[in-house]
Amino acid sequence: MSVPNRHFDHIVVGAGSAGAIVAARLSENPAKHVLLLEAGPEDRNVWSKVPLGFAKILFNPKYMWQDQETAQEPDLGGRRYALPAGKVLGGSSAINGLIQVRGNPGD
Ligand SMILES: Cc1cc2nc3c(=O)[nH]c(=O)nc-3n(C[C@H](O)[C@H](O)[C@H](O)COP(=O)(O)OP(=O)(O)OC[C@H]3O[C@@H](n4cnc5c(N)ncnc54)[C@H](O)[C@@H]3O)c2cc1C
Repeated sequence: MSVPNRHFDHIVVGAGSAGAIVAARLSENPAKHVLLLEAGPEDRNVWSKVPLGFAKILFNPKYMWQDQETAQEPDLGGRRYALPAGKVLGGSSAINGLIQVRGNPGD
C-alpha cells in the first residue's frame, strides 16, 4: 500500500498487541495523523480463532515469523530457545493460544 505525499505525526511499526493499542491511543487526538505499519496480512485463518489452534499455523510463513530464536541463554546451558511470533494484523495476539491467566493479587 502506498501513502504518497502524506505527513504523519506518529509512525507505529507492528500492529500487534502493543502497537495496535499505542496507535489507537495516539489516534484519539483527531489533530494527529498516525500511520500503523504491519508486515503481515489480515488475519483470515480459521485456526487463529480456535483455542490452541496456533499449533496448526506455527510453521506457516504467511502468518508466523519463521526461524526466530533467542540469543544463547546462560540459564539454558548456552542453548537458544525457539521464539515463535505472529506476522499478521494483531501480531502474536491474533495467533496465540487464547489462554487467559488471571493476575495474582499477591504478585
Ligand atoms: C504461539 C504463541 C502462543 C501464545 N499464547 C498466548 C496465550 O494463550 N495467552 C496469552 O496471554 N499470551 C499468549 N502469547 C503471548 C502474546 O501473544 C504476546 O505476549 C503478545 O502478543 C506480544 O505483544 P507484542 O505487541 O509485544 O508483539 P506482537 O503481538 O507479536 O506484535 C508484533 C507485530 O509487529 C509486526 N512486525 C515486526 N517487525 C515488523 C516490521 N519490521 N515491520 C512491520 N511490522 C513488523 C509483527 O508482524 C507483529 O504483528 C502467545 C504467543 C505466541 C507466539
